[in-house]
Amino acid sequence: MRILIIGAGGREHALTWKLSQSSLVEKIYVAPGNGGTSLETKAVNVDIAGDDYPKLVEFAVDNNVSLVVPGPEQPLVDGVETLFRKVGIPVFGPSELAARMEGSKAFSKDFMARHNIPTAAFKIFRSGQFEDASSYVKTCGHKVVLKASGLAGGKGVLIPETVDEAIAGLKDIMVSNVFGDAGDEVVVEELLEGPEISILAFSDGYTIVPLPAAQDHKRIGEGDSGPNTGGMGAYAPAPVATPEVLNRIMQEILRPTIDGMRKDGYPFVGMLFTGFMLTSTGPKVLEYNVRFGDPETEAIMLLLSDDTDLASILLACAERRLDAVSINTRPGFAVCVILASAGYPGSYSKGKEIQVESVDSDVVVFHAGTSTKTGPLVTAGGRVIGVTAYGSTIQNAVDLVYKGVDQVSFEGKTFRRDIAHKALGTQIP
Ligand code: ATP
Repeated sequence: MRILIIGAGGREHALTWKLSQSSLVEKIYVAPGNGGTSLETKAVNVDIAGDDYPKLVEFAVDNNVSLVVPGPEQPLVDGVETLFRKVGIPVFGPSELAARMEGSKAFSKDFMARHNIPTAAFKIFRSGQFEDASSYVKTCGHKVVLKASGLAGGKGVLIPETVDEAIAGLKDIMVSNVFGDAGDEVVVEELLEGPEISILAFSDGYTIVPLPAAQDHKRIGEGDSGPNTGGMGAYAPAPVATPEVLNRIMQEILRPTIDGMRKDGYPFVGMLFTGFMLTSTGPKVLEYNVRFGDPETEAIMLLLSDDTDLASILLACAERRLDAVSINTRPGFAVCVILASAGYPGSYSKGKEIQVESVDSDVVVFHAGTSTKTGPLVTAGGRVIGVTAYGSTIQNAVDLVYKGVDQVSFEGKTFRRDIAHKALGTQIP
């Protein structure tokens, strides 16, 4: 099999790493990839931008690619699945219609309401309805969360403390258009409380196979302080996701989601990555994503057992026969710690040389914003590297991952020391 992965992050490196281990895989092309993806056996970087769809299709045809794996959501929301399908190449990822589950929060909330899937109470307002939205937040009787409906790079969610703040937030989105077109529709929803988890699940539109629940760490600072980032670390499985919780999630949420999408005429093929709040009345959906999460994927890839062949799973999803493959995870825990550039998520400089010493056999150094284009390995983004470790206990995985963190150096290296400490009952070591 020849696989084309679209993307350049830690998630794409983790997928490349696991796919390289498959005996079915002959070659992996990563467009555009990063300084780590091309180091994997069988993998080469291809110098085509992740949004240059005509060139990606041409490349896939010319190089006999048999499966395309888009990493980020944008190509899926833009409809790349159809573009490749038209030239006879299957895609591990949803159609443009199914990708609306991530591309439009208004759409996914309507979907959940229609199919009785537990989620926060909500109301949707469209541009021109600022006055209506303001009266709603004044009278709804609960704290609210404001969400720009479209894709806003993980920045489109506001959690106001007061009604005045909520109205100011609505004004920013609906009148000042701070999120551009993404704010043409606004979801105003009830603030939920409880621990958050996320679950990655493979689906072929009929069968759904969830992987161990993960918890990520979105804020830049220890103890969940400071601004939001793309994710500063993740670990799995999260002990808060007990077998009872997972069973409810499967019965009340994941199964009805896959069945509902199929019945509505847009079956979901690919990776359904759902965020949940575990409230006192049960798990509720915060959001759907239609692709692998980053950095959850880095941790999860280390939990797939050696006999689990990722290439055969991805192909089986695209060919609607997921029930025929076995997916096994190993016992134990995986932890990913992101090393970022100084200044991230604000402005930061690039081009700092990176040194990676040899790491323990249960540690993998996944690259994100790195490059070797000018020769040496240098930083090329905000999130630079995701050091990921497997251990038989959480403590063991945490100890190993931080030993690995010490083995990577570059000027300005910034990371959180408290990844997975929620699961250990401590905040900062
Ligand atoms: P990302 O792309 O970073 O996952 P997003 O912009 O797609 O985020 P959501 O996941 O919907 O947006 O929300 C981001 C975060 O805001 C959630 O992880 C959660 O912490 C918080 N949040 C969202 N909805 C609610 C809610 N109803 N109640 C409380 N917190 C919420």
